Amino acid sequence: WRRHLPQAGLLSATQLVNEWTAVFEKEGIPEARESSEYIVAHVLGAKTFQSLRPALRRQPLTPGQLQCIQELSGRRLQRMPVQYILGEWDFQGLSLKMTPPVFIPRPETEELVEWVLEEAALRPHEADAQGSPLILEVGCGSGAISLSLLSRLPQSRAIAVDKGEAAICLTLENAQRLRLQDRIQIVPLDVTLEGSWAHLLYWGPLDLIVSNPPYVFRQDMEQLAPEIRSYEDPAALDGGEKGMDIIEHILALAPRLLKDSGSIFLEVDPRHPELVSSWLQSRPDLSLNLVAVRRDFCGRSRFLHIQRSGA
Ligand code: GLN
Repeated sequence: WRRHLPQAGLLSATQLVNEWTAVFEKEGIPEARESSEYIVAHVLGAKTFQSLRPALRRQPLTPGQLQCIQELSGRRLQRMPVQYILGEWDFQGLSLKMTPPVFIPRPETEELVEWVLEEAALRPHEADAQGSPLILEVGCGSGAISLSLLSRLPQSRAIAVDKGEAAICLTLENAQRLRLQDRIQIVPLDVTLEGSWAHLLYWGPLDLIVSNPPYVFRQDMEQLAPEIRSYEDPAALDGGEKGMDIIEHILALAPRLLKDSGSIFLEVDPRHPELVSSWLQSRPDLSLNLVAVRRDFCGRSRFLHIQRSGA
């Protein structure tokens, strides 16, 4: 990346953003301007470039700041996602630490969280005697979903499971960072392993299971952006031939863990509502019903609410 180094001199933040935007555009880096703005703002101690005072944007950068910006921008040239470059990212207003290869929470997943919160507000009576709903998140990654639910539902408790060691460590770090560690159990667990769920019975019947599982169709894995393919753990994305492998495991174990009318909320691919619906019809023994499907902000059917019909 050194060949891209803008001429040293009295460069301001604004000039550097413009220089790197031009380099990123030339190299075909997606979101060129956003990327350079985030990097420069981060080095100057701000979250967004727009939030920097105009005087600060015009002021010459120190050699240390300049070197840091060059170094981080070089990583973006290698297609590293900006979330990993900055080492933190906001989700539902919470600042979470982000480290590769742990899956980076996407903006649409915030809509899944909002939906869960809406439903929770509709039936507070379903919480247990202490009024503290128990939530299980399968495939917690950075902990984004569990931690944002815990912060918005003050009485709730969560169990967050993931099979990846890096994810478990990062969720723990994020829980501590947000001082939510006393309300969350973080358990290394692979839901595809026979009997692994038995472990979870210890905490009692669940009110809710929520997950953004790996759901990418195997044939689509090759088409993922370089940012995803080269940096994120494929295990967080690859859902098998029809993207259903982990979804099926979650649905199959849910009835054993959920309360009688407990709910499952899932983020899925737009092809999944139909696939999940017919899969559930083939498994009447599970007593699960697809009760609602929601669209994401792009209008694609991406979120499922499945409910256990009290057996
Ligand atoms: N929508 C995700 C993507 O960016 C896939 C997420 C998942 O498999 N959970 O590719």
